[in-house]
Formats: sequence, C-alpha cells, structure tokens
Amino acid sequence: MLTVESLEVTYGSIRAVAGLDIAIGKGGVTALLGANGAGKSSTMSAIGGLLRPSGGRVLFDGADITGMPAHRVARRGLALVPEGRMVVGCLTVQENLDLSAYARGRRRTALVDEVYDLFPRLAERRAQTAALMSGGEQQMLAIGRALMTAPSVLLLDEPSMGLSPAMVDTVFSAITAIRASGMTMLLVEQNAALAFPLADHACLVQRGAIVAEGTPEELERDPATIARHLGIDEEPRPDRTSKGVTA
Ligand code: ATP
Repeated sequence: MLTVESLEVTYGSIRAVAGLDIAIGKGGVTALLGANGAGKSSTMSAIGGLLRPSGGRVLFDGADITGMPAHRVARRGLALVPEGRMVVGCLTVQENLDLSAYARGRRRTALVDEVYDLFPRLAERRAQTAALMSGGEQQMLAIGRALMTAPSVLLLDEPSMGLSPAMVDTVFSAITAIRASGMTMLLVEQNAALAFPLADHACLVQRGAIVAEGTPEELERDPATIARHLGIDEEPRPDRTSKGVTA
C-alpha cells in the first residue's frame, strides 16, 4: 500500500536520509525508531509531501507520489500528523477540524462525531481556541484533524513528544483504537515501549538508514541493540516519555 524505495533527503550538505526502504501493506503498522537527528521526521516529511526528496521513490497504492505537494498527498488518502502538531492556533477546535475536512473537499461529516467520540476532551473544548490548549490536547486535535480527511494511511510523527505520562496514555489509547479499526500506519517514536505494542514491523533508524528491522518480538530479543540505536542506556519503560514533559 505504501512503499518507500531508497529515499534520500538532503539539506545543503547534510544528508538526513540516506537510502531508506519501507513497505507497509494494507492494515499494517510499521514503527520507525531512532534517536534525535536519526532522520525520522525528514522521512515523514518527504513521504507526506512537506519536502521534496533528493532521491528515491514514494509509491502509494501503486502510484508514484514522489515530490507531490502535501495537499495532493492528503487528497489521495495519506494523512500526516506532524511533529509539533502544527494546529492552527487562532482557530477553534471545531474550526480546525472543519478546515481539514474542507481541504479534502468534504463538508462537515459524521467523521467529526467519530473524532469527538475518540477524544471526548475535544468535544468539551470544541469552541476553544487551539493555541490555548495543552500540548496533549493539541496532539489529540492534530490526530483528529488527520482523521477528518478519511485517510487510508496515517503517518504519526512522535505523538508522545513532550506529553505527560497521563497524556501519553490517553493519546496512545486512541491510537490503539484507530489501529483496531484497521488503519494502516507509519509511526515514528523514540520510545520503543510505546511503539512495539502497536506495530507489526519495526525499523531502527540511524544516520538516515535502517540498521535493524523485524517484528517487535524479534527486536525485543536484543534490547542492547535497541538501547544503542535509541541513544539510551537502559531499556525503555512504558511510563517514560522521550523528551521534555510539558502537559
Ligand atoms: P528528532 O527526533 O530530533 O526530530 P529525527 O530523527 O526526526 O530527530 P530529523 O529531524 O529528520 O531527525 O533530522 C535529521 C538530520 O537532518 C539532523 O542532523 C538534523 O539536524 C538535520 N535537519 C533536519 N531538518 C533540517 C533543516 N531544515 N535544515 C538543515 N538540517 C536539518
């Protein structure tokens, strides 16, 4: 369904992604794990159309979407939840959701009820300005906004980043429910303990290339390798977030 072949991303002389391959079948969930600067977000941005890769191909449902701008990628059914959420701060929760649906050429639909069922907190705050919401609430909104495009593939870039353990639980419960609905996903994480229960395939990324991959069970047999590539000196714990806690 989504195939990435020999992907390369460069920023001037910096080679952030150096020949990365990913293949995800319908309903599959692949986790990309790696330390800061490994090239995970650059990979997601290149797939989602936020930046043009300098090499390689991205194939979606058999079509070559390499270098296609983000709005056209989204229209094809590939929704990116970017690192840092990027909700429209001056709009309300409801307006952010509506805007996303309109961008996909839809009016407000029953999808909004599904989003509010998934995230009751968003329903309570539907009239609130997005900029005034906590980091966790904005992450919920970013995921909800992606769901409003009725995607067939969800690209989630570090959904746990900067969230308190309680918020991480809430957000990952929702992602688990989305996965149970059969959604195909590519999930970037630094916390293997969060990603492994969701994924059927996981890749460890270092310096823009995959250095180890397999099922989570296969990778878990070698925790030292995971720790080395994630830049940690101990096995990750489920209650630990990867970066600073803000809310
Ligand atoms: P993190 O988890 O910290 O976001 P990452 O694995 O997502 O890390 P990227 O953000 O893709 O990694 O960065 C990969 C490399 O590319 C890093 O060396 C980073 O400094 C560099 N890089 C990323 N964005 C830019 C940019 N806009 N201009 C120049 N270099 C960049």
